[in-house]
Amino acid sequence: MQSVYNQAMTLAVEQLIQEAERCVTCGLCLPHCPTYRKTGSEADSPRGRIQLMRAVAQEILPNNDRFKQHIDLCLSCRSCESACPNSVNYGALVDATRAQFTPQKSVLFSLIKPIIRHRFSAKPLFWLLWLMQQARLMAIVKRFSPAAKLLPTLQKPITWQKLYPASATRKGAVSLFLGCATNALDSNSLKASIYVLNHLGFDVHVPTGQTCCGSVARQAGDDNESKQLIATNQHSFDPSLTILTTASGCGAGLTDYLPTHHIQDISAFLSTCDWSNVSVQPLNTAIYVQDPCTLRNVQKSHLAVYTLLKKIPQAEIISLAGNSQCCGGAGAYMLTQSEMANQLLNDKLVAIKTANVAVLATSNIGCSLHIANGLRAQNLTVKVTHPIQILAQQMGFSCN
Ligand code: SF4
Ligand code: SF4
Repeated sequence: MQSVYNQAMTLAVEQLIQEAERCVTCGLCLPHCPTYRKTGSEADSPRGRIQLMRAVAQEILPNNDRFKQHIDLCLSCRSCESACPNSVNYGALVDATRAQFTPQKSVLFSLIKPIIRHRFSAKPLFWLLWLMQQARLMAIVKRFSPAAKLLPTLQKPITWQKLYPASATRKGAVSLFLGCATNALDSNSLKASIYVLNHLGFDVHVPTGQTCCGSVARQAGDDNESKQLIATNQHSFDPSLTILTTASGCGAGLTDYLPTHHIQDISAFLSTCDWSNVSVQPLNTAIYVQDPCTLRNVQKSHLAVYTLLKKIPQAEIISLAGNSQCCGGAGAYMLTQSEMANQLLNDKLVAIKTANVAVLATSNIGCSLHIANGLRAQNLTVKVTHPIQILAQQMGFSCN
């Protein structure tokens, strides 16, 4: 069956109705839905939401605040899609519904929109935040802003080269997607990716014209903005090179809406490379892995993270209990739906405490920020990091 995403745009109302009609209401998706598990309400289940979306699109039900609440509470985690025997494209349905019926008019999105669109004009802001952290002034900001509490210790803002040539026998070339949050808050994962790729013989291109993947805009129902961002990326990246992503949230958005390019998660790409000439130092520790929903349900490459980390001698790689359920991060959801986001976060914190986790690897910046924030609030010392950083460090890379 051809994916409805191949149109690289959100579904029109008629297409939305047709896709919703493919749901046979079997209910097999219900136990996999985090919001249904928490509320027990059919309207907060995938099956219930699909029926509501169809009824509103057909003007059988009004597009009112109650409808918006049920759509807003959906995490877009797409667990339902993975469970559906009829391959209903729930992600396409909820994206189209948000664009056409429930766009956000929040102050938060209006504020972050120019920052995510203009990566370069946002640079002064990140310099300011970095300087404030250096001067230990962030505590004042955090007292007034819940969003500021999510900020990790910032890395010094960086100007990327257009090309990082292979440092071993050349085997090929790839493009690297920076992502707005990863570029601003986790540049060490991008540097680690370049380090590993270069050592495996790959040139890494970092196109300067690239921008945000559009996922936050899509989640807010801003169709024009997400289309513009996708178009900018389409023109910026060489279609003959695979685009590698380090944040699975970006990877999922690009996989769905940039069909002209081949998109792959960094771990999925590296797990199939030739490692015979690469030396990886042992690490005698247990590394727990958190599976981001976007990596598991959309990019479907979460298992590659385990394969990759197993290249570290002596390391024990363990799946965190409850990995099939969303952590509640889900892009801007952790800020806009904080009550449900915190309920889901608490389940993760219980799993982390129960297993006495010291190192947690996650491949999505949103999950990383959300979980690390919860750990800080409970004074738990757990190193939350991207798997590529752990691997790169065992190859000689050092973060700064
Ligand atoms: S599993 Fe698929 S077909 Fe069944 S209720 Fe859920 S979305 Fe509908
Ligand atoms: S995307 Fe996630 S939260 Fe939304 S209906 Fe599907 S399983 Fe539930």
